[in-house]
Amino acid sequence: MLSVQEAFQLILETVKPSPPQDCSLFEGTHCVLAKGTVSDLNVPPFDKALMDGFAVNSADLPEGKATLKILETIYAGSVPTLPLQAGQTSQIMTGAPLPAGADAVVQIEHCRINEEQQTVQIETSPVAPGKNMLYRASVLETGAPVIEAGTLLRPQEIGALAETGSPTISVRRPPSVSILATGDELVPPEESPQAGQIRNSNEVMLYSQILQSHARPIPLGIARDERTHLSEKIQEGLKSDFLLLSGGVSAGTLDLVPSELQAAGVKQVFHKVNLKPGKPLWFGILERENQGPCYIFGLPGNPVSSMVCFDLFVRTAIRQFMEFPAPKPAPVQARLSADFQSRGDRPTYHPAQVEWKSGEAVVTPLKTLGSADLRSTVTANAVALFPTGNQLYQAGLQVDTFLW
Ligand code: AMP
Ligand code: MG
Repeated sequence: MLSVQEAFQLILETVKPSPPQDCSLFEGTHCVLAKGTVSDLNVPPFDKALMDGFAVNSADLPEGKATLKILETIYAGSVPTLPLQAGQTSQIMTGAPLPAGADAVVQIEHCRINEEQQTVQIETSPVAPGKNMLYRASVLETGAPVIEAGTLLRPQEIGALAETGSPTISVRRPPSVSILATGDELVPPEESPQAGQIRNSNEVMLYSQILQSHARPIPLGIARDERTHLSEKIQEGLKSDFLLLSGGVSAGTLDLVPSELQAAGVKQVFHKVNLKPGKPLWFGILERENQGPCYIFGLPGNPVSSMVCFDLFVRTAIRQFMEFPAPKPAPVQARLSADFQSRGDRPTYHPAQVEWKSGEAVVTPLKTLGSADLRSTVTANAVALFPTGNQLYQAGLQVDTFLW
């Protein structure tokens, strides 16, 4: 059976990054920047007031006290017309350019204006050069790099791109991901299950995981364990960039997913991976005319298996599609908080709680009844990895964990 690392390798070889495309900043959130940007101007473009008050030459206020002659008022969006000489000041608003000869701003609360004499009496603590202002180009110089290629665009990156003259950017967009739950026993969450039925928890859980991965979920509802209905639903899902099926991939007589996918022209890349939970995982690709391929995952039906497989494998595939620089999940080393007895015929990803104590990660594997026990994951924020075999791991030992 394929190892987890071999499965990662096959996913990374199969999934091709989507071609870069231009978009506006309004469309760029949750995309990955394909081409790094540089600033087309100095930031700030001029010496800039950070307070409403008076622009001064700090040499006029060594002790913080002076009466200065007012020359003019400078508003944000206007430009100063008069340079300051010794003993002079101009009233200034936040965001306005400082006049020549000024190197600080005294905030308005420390100033008493005499309208008649056109002077201002200032009483404040000693004023150092640079107080309440930003020097021209102190944040960024023209031509300096702003956002690197491979960065996932969050609100602050979008704002920084606007500020530095990149209204159109080249990005790799998040994929559309269809979700198809399969199983005659499933009813929607809003229904009360009848004898033999359970609620469809995987569809909304996958929806949520897809959103967390910055991709676009498309729920397709429930497919019955019946070839015609299943294949119709599969055809719908194969229009997206990704199709995730839940259930129907193990060894039951109604586990129709692999054969129906193959009947739809999907090429199997692998089936079954040596991990617990998640062994039945299925992965394939459909080449399409005039558009990129569709990547298909058949996820195990048990909710914890589905969740773990998404987190390890589907997320890696989505990140590869968007060309994240490091698409695979990176383990975090954590010390066991207590002795732990592992029993597994496969490498086991055990729901766990990781906490930071004095800067060090400490992990507590949680009690669980296995891959059908979704409730046990509610207090988990990670999985801890234990190799195959029955072994007692002692408290204090370092283990690999993968944070959720
Ligand atoms: P299967 O892989 O179809 O054999 O399903 C394995 C187990 O997962 C069975 O107990 C199913 O009832 C359960 N299961 C399958 N799909 C879902 C789902 N969408 N939500 C919750 N449990 C599911
Ligand atoms: Mg089933």
